[in-house]
Order: sequence, then C-alpha cells, then structure tokens
Amino acid sequence: MSRRYELPDISQPGKVGYSLPTLDMPAAELPPAEMLRSDLALPEVSEAELVRYFTHLSKLNYGIDTGFYPLGSCTMKYNPKWHEDVARLPGFASIHPFQPAGSVQGALRLMFELQAYLAEITGMDGVSLAPLAGAQGELASILMVKAYHRKDSARSKILVPDSAHGTNPATGTMGGFEVVSVPSDDKGDVDLGKLESIMDENVAALTLTLPNTLGLFDTRIGKISQLVHDKGALLCGDGANLNSLVGKARFGDMGFDCVQLNLHKTFSTPHGGGGPGSGPVCARAVLTEFLPSPVVAKDGEEYRLASPASSIGILGAAYGNFGVMVRAYAYIRTLGAAGLREVSENAVINANYLKEKLKPYYHLPYDRPCMHEIVFSGKRQKTQGVRALDIAKRLLDFGFHPPTVYFPIIVDEAIMVEPTESESKATLDSFIDAMKQIAREAEENPEMLHSAPHHTPVRRLDEAKAARQPDLRWRMGNDKERAGTA
Ligand SMILES: *Cc1c(COP(=O)(O)O)cnc(C)c1O
Repeated sequence: MSRRYELPDISQPGKVGYSLPTLDMPAAELPPAEMLRSDLALPEVSEAELVRYFTHLSKLNYGIDTGFYPLGSCTMKYNPKWHEDVARLPGFASIHPFQPAGSVQGALRLMFELQAYLAEITGMDGVSLAPLAGAQGELASILMVKAYHRKDSARSKILVPDSAHGTNPATGTMGGFEVVSVPSDDKGDVDLGKLESIMDENVAALTLTLPNTLGLFDTRIGKISQLVHDKGALLCGDGANLNSLVGKARFGDMGFDCVQLNLHKTFSTPHGGGGPGSGPVCARAVLTEFLPSPVVAKDGEEYRLASPASSIGILGAAYGNFGVMVRAYAYIRTLGAAGLREVSENAVINANYLKEKLKPYYHLPYDRPCMHEIVFSGKRQKTQGVRALDIAKRLLDFGFHPPTVYFPIIVDEAIMVEPTESESKATLDSFIDAMKQIAREAEENPEMLHSAPHHTPVRRLDEAKAARQPDLRWRMGNDKERAGTA
C-alpha cells in the first residue's frame, strides 16, 4: 500500500447502526438532569460503516497472524488457534476468581497440573503461577531471596551481568538491593575472573538470564553456580528465554535456586501491546516456603488454594492471569515431552540458519553457535551512514516486522533477530533476501534508507510519544486533521 489512507469523515447526523427492541416494561427514571450530558460527541454511522471502519483500522496493524515477527527477546511465535477455543470454554472463561474452591475444581486441577509440569520442565521443587508477567516473576524471585537472607542483613547486593535483560537490574533495585554489574568477556559469557573478584558475603544473589540476551548459552554455568553458592548467595534465573532450552536442559539441574518463566513467550498466548502475561516462579526446596500466594494444593481428591508457610505474599488480584495458564497447559499437553524438545531444537536451528546466511552481510560480534536468537551489529552499515534504525524501518517496506534494535546495549548498533520455531524455511529465506538487499542499498543508496519506510500507511513516528500518549479515541469532525498529523 503506497497511498496514505485518509479516514473519511463517515459520521452523518441521524444515521444509526443499531436497533433496540420496543420497550415492554416501564421506563426507568433518568438520573437528575445536572448529571446528564446532552452534548456527547459520538459518531453517527450505519452498522456496515462501523464494521468497515474498525476492519480498516485492524488492517493497519501488524501481528504474528499477518507476517514474520522476528522481534528478538520477545519470542513472537505462532499461537495455535485451538488454544483460544480452550481458553474460552465457559467453565474456564466464565468463572469468578472468588468462587468457592468446591465449585471450580476443574480450574484448580488445571493449575495444579500446570505447576507440576513447570516443576518438571525446570527441575524445581515448587511453583507459584501467581506472577502476572515475567518482570513480576523476577520481582517474586528477588523478594524470595530477600526473605531467605532475612537474618543476614549484610547481604545487600544483587549481581547482574551486563548482558542481562533490562528488567533484571530494575528488579534488583525494586527489591531494595544495590545492583552490581558483572562484565562479559570477549566471547559474550560472564567474565569468570571478574565475577570471582566481586563475589563476597555481601552478595544476596546473582541473577542470570540464560541463555543471555546475546542469544548465547554460558557453558560454564556449573562453575558460576559454584562461585555463587560458595559465598552463601543464591542463583536466580531469568527463564524468559526458555524457548531455546525447553525439554533439553533444566534450571534446577544447572544449580539455579529459582527461575521465572514467561508463559506468554515459551508456551504460546498472543502477546505484545502490553499483555496479558504470566510469569510463574519456580523454586528449589530452600525457597519454596517463600513462594508467592496462592499456590494450588491437593488434599485427597480436593484441590484448594493455599499460601506457602512464609510466603512473600500476594502479587495481584485473585490467582493470576488464568487464561494464559489455560493456553500454556493446552500447549504442553498437545506437544508432550517430545514435541517440546522439538520446539527448542527448531528455534535454535532457525536462528543459526539466519546467522550463517547473514553473517557475510552484517557484522557478527560473537561468532559462535547461538541459541534461539542471533545478535548482529549494524556497525559496517554505520560507516556507510546507515543506522540500525534505518535497517529496521526499511524492513517494513518488505512486509516484515523489524527485529529488536539497539538491544542488548553491549552491542553497538545491535540488531537482534529471533525467528522462533514456527517459521518455514521459505519465510526465513525471504527475510534473508530482504536483509541482503538492504545491505546492498546501504552501500549504493544510503539516502533511500534514511527516509524508509516508503510503503507503509504512516512513515516514521515518534515512538516514545505513541507509546506513552496513545491517541486512540475517535473525535467528532477532526478525523482528517488527525490523519494528516499521524
Ligand atoms: C521479556 C523478558 C522479560 C520481561 O518479561 P515481561 O513478561 O515482559 O515482564 C525479562 N527477561 C527477559 C530475558 C525477557 O526476554
């Protein structure tokens, strides 16, 4: 679509898009006049126009159901539609969070079994499904660490590698700790020498994203675990990248004391646009008494909500984002152990395929096998006057959602690509072709990249403003004006 679409002002006085049945009971009294508005500016449109208006808007959006979405760190994979049916079953979708446990035994059983699956998948002893997002699961981990060290107030520091997700240092700070950054070595792993020199009795925990945000697996995780535990500290995992490990390696076996998972990344659920998410926290026996409330327990044949003995408390209303749990349960049950292993194998193969095909064209700061995502640097293109942002914007012209750019921050002009397991070779090949063409354009016609995208309904937006002050409301009369300023 090369033409800019201007929304017609479709409102006309007197048009209606609905019809109500004739009133067959006494009209209710209206509130006092001073509480009523007479000048409510609502569009007057027919039903067909309304449907077309919203359908048009929906087509301006880009989603995983419209195309390839290689947004690194986000695991934007295909979500089986069957999960939507399951999550909408009235027995799941229509129950109230405060119904008596006896009347929601099926839902509680699902949660109980999901807890057990996640414990098995992570090699942990206990699980709470309560956290509402990955970051909140991290917060739960850090509060559990704090509770564990409650008699040892000298433990005031959380160590976080500089290759961590931004939420990791933020979470340490929110937990009231001093966050100390651990540098990476030239291979992209934790610098073990530096870690050893920083590690002391004032450290409460090391938080490790594994694989890290460079998409790399630190094979010395056993040694890291030992260094941390030798000083009496705990090892917290950020398990948001589990899509590369599921069915293959377990956090518990690698020495982690707790880890949060992002169900909305690894175990399906459409995400983006802010949620909903679910970030269960899984813990080894030393920490299970501190897990957030509630957890689901089983007495005989009865399921019930319970609170762990020294729980850090509740993290939100009711018992978490239940619909996300239903989808994760459906995903695990459908794929089974062998299917889950295939997920991580294919996610890793796809990322390595992109790596090998694109490394002649884009600088690869860490040239070694990657996990589920691959981080390039646009620094070669930067010398041609083309920035990572230009490359990302140009990809929109090819019909692709861009990869993550400028993150992780330890890579200059980072371009972080996560293909996920659910894409075909044909799709990966057309993405590779687009990236190759952009690399050529950077040499031959950098100006053209500066003004990209050329074929989208809107061009370059103020993204920070669009996110912080979303302008989503239809306003009478000034539609054309607004379209002109988009
Ligand atoms: C996505 C992500 C998070 C944060 O998860 P949310 O659900 O967005 O809060 C944390 N760590 C890593 C490594 C991630 O990729």
